[in-house]
Amino acid sequence: MTTTGTTAVSRTLVLVKPDGVRRGLSGEILRRIEAKGYTLVAVELTHATDELLAQHYAEHEGKPFYAPLVEFMRSGPVLAVVAEGQGVIPGFRSLAGATDPTAAAPGTIRGDLGRDWGLKVQQNLVHGSDSEESAAREIGLWFPNL
Ligand code: UDP
Repeated sequence: MTTTGTTAVSRTLVLVKPDGVRRGLSGEILRRIEAKGYTLVAVELTHATDELLAQHYAEHEGKPFYAPLVEFMRSGPVLAVVAEGQGVIPGFRSLAGATDPTAAAPGTIRGDLGRDWGLKVQQNLVHGSDSEESAAREIGLWFPNL
């Protein structure tokens, strides 16, 4: 982490989930990140392995939605993105909107582009790191060479 003035420049991991890639929304989601003023540091279209997803979603292991979530995340390519800027971790979560796309506010990625496709909140287009610690861990998992 570097500092400019008094506000730290952070990085976050964003994933465009398989539903977003399948629906052709990768460009629109990247556009919103850039339009907000964040910088794209790395972008890679990748097919996640079970091992990577087990590490990524370790905190959810044992929950009823865990196995179907991993299966969904394996159902097609994912666009992994590292975005940078002051406040980017809460800032991207704000752009993404609430976990449940039905409830997510209009103006957000999930609120504008997402809906319930039958599994309520599973297919919600994007992931965004929720803390500095998660961001560092997740960027290390998805971009080990960064
Ligand atoms: N999820 C799900 N069912 C649930 C809760 C979550 O399938 O009941 C999925 C959903 O795709 C969500 C992800 O698990 O984005 C991680 O959940 P979390 O609560 O961390 O939500 P997020 O931080 O992505 O908003």
